[in-house]
Amino acid sequence: MYSIIHSGGLDGIRSYQADVEVDVGKGLPGFYMVGKLSGEVREAKERVKVSMKNSGIYLPPVQITVNISPASISKNGTAFDLPIAIGILNSLDMIPQKHLDNTCIIGELSLDGNVRQVNGVLPIVLAARDAGFLRCIVPGANRSEASFVEGIDIYPVNTLLETIDLLSGDELTPSLYEDAVIDKEQEKDNLLFEDIVGQEACKRAALIAASGFHHLLIIGPPGTGKTMIAKRIPYIMPPLTVDESLEVSSIYSVAGLLSEEKPIITMRPFRSPHHTATMQTLAGGGRFARPGIISLAHRGVLFMDEFPEFSRECIEVLREPLEEKRIHIARVNSMSTFPADFMLVAAANPCPCGYFPNRNKCNCSLPQINHYRSKMTGPTKDRIDITVTADKTDPDRLIDYKGAGADYVYTTEAMRNTVLRVRAVQSRRFMGTDISYNSEIPPSLINRYCKLGKKEIEFIKEAMNAMDFSARAYHKILKVARTIADIEECDTISIDHLSEAICYRGA
Ligand SMILES: [Zn+2]
Repeated sequence: MYSIIHSGGLDGIRSYQADVEVDVGKGLPGFYMVGKLSGEVREAKERVKVSMKNSGIYLPPVQITVNISPASISKNGTAFDLPIAIGILNSLDMIPQKHLDNTCIIGELSLDGNVRQVNGVLPIVLAARDAGFLRCIVPGANRSEASFVEGIDIYPVNTLLETIDLLSGDELTPSLYEDAVIDKEQEKDNLLFEDIVGQEACKRAALIAASGFHHLLIIGPPGTGKTMIAKRIPYIMPPLTVDESLEVSSIYSVAGLLSEEKPIITMRPFRSPHHTATMQTLAGGGRFARPGIISLAHRGVLFMDEFPEFSRECIEVLREPLEEKRIHIARVNSMSTFPADFMLVAAANPCPCGYFPNRNKCNCSLPQINHYRSKMTGPTKDRIDITVTADKTDPDRLIDYKGAGADYVYTTEAMRNTVLRVRAVQSRRFMGTDISYNSEIPPSLINRYCKLGKKEIEFIKEAMNAMDFSARAYHKILKVARTIADIEECDTISIDHLSEAICYRGA
């Protein structure tokens, strides 16, 4: 029961290939480390043991011997923690050999089982590539620098468990929490809508969506600020209550994403999976059944940029959480259920290249465009109440822009106050029912909560005939009109509210 894990170390600014050899045998239980190691490297022993225990992994009473070669170089740093842990688990047959042969592994372990950032990742990854390794497992926080190196696959990991899942899979799939790399911008206390120039229609749509908890689709060419809008939505939602904060933190705790610096989640989550994400990444799962990105977005915003590029499976997997606000994950012998009550914000380009209808730039054929758009239909799209278009900002506006605060209406603060007021209106309206928001009004109660006057009925009838709405579209329009009326502090829905809601109807 012997294994070799490939790793690398730093000698000054030069890096070298290192092999972590682990032998696990009978004999007096103990943990021995050799190989010209500094004190820091020797302490790996404690970090590895505690980190495993806190990840729920219990080692049998065995004698563990670790040797880090080459013996001629003295080893420093903490990057050998993760390869040592993986070597022990491999020696105990708890991790298969198959993905280990061409893999270089580096990472420090913290006592709670997280994989911590280490120094010198860039030169180590470069050396690994030059030595012919196919892939490198690195701490999530080092992902960006590692990704600069071409010609080697990078697998960022944030926890020990995640690393085990990764190496135990039939195929190496990208990290379960690929998007968990801390987004510097998102770490701020407050992202301001007034930092975005123009895009009033999108800001208005975001305000309505957040007020009535409607799911939102933003369509527009690249570079129009779709992501900026989406990222700001959690900041206009009401702050998490204490109970909600504990609930969200529990999910992050199970996922191994809480740290000493951030032991509790107090901000509404914003999660933005990449469109290459797998279904498991979104839904959760793995050997230890951990929550997926969908559940990490619980009580916050799930932002799916380039929505039509997601696999059909991924889009399909949203159906259950959108209907039931939770997700079931099938395991070998059991089912796990995780909460998944999020606001979906999807974004899409108008065509595969992104520039339609600007025919100077867009060469997409109509069948291509239709095929692309057809991916946006189906049960998930049916749940999206509001569709809005982001346009290229008028250059004059950029030049005239007077800076943050000049745009009075769509400031983050003003928007948040409106959302709070409208949510209070809804709490009163739905008291004693199991409805919380206008978006949840079922078809059977539409006429009760979204009552229309005579003129308004005439108006909507005409619009339905002219534009050929489905019954579903009709319901969406009424629910969104209800939220707009609430924003305008009106008890009754007017023709203005209806016409605005019709604009958000989408395809
Ligand atoms: Zn195009």
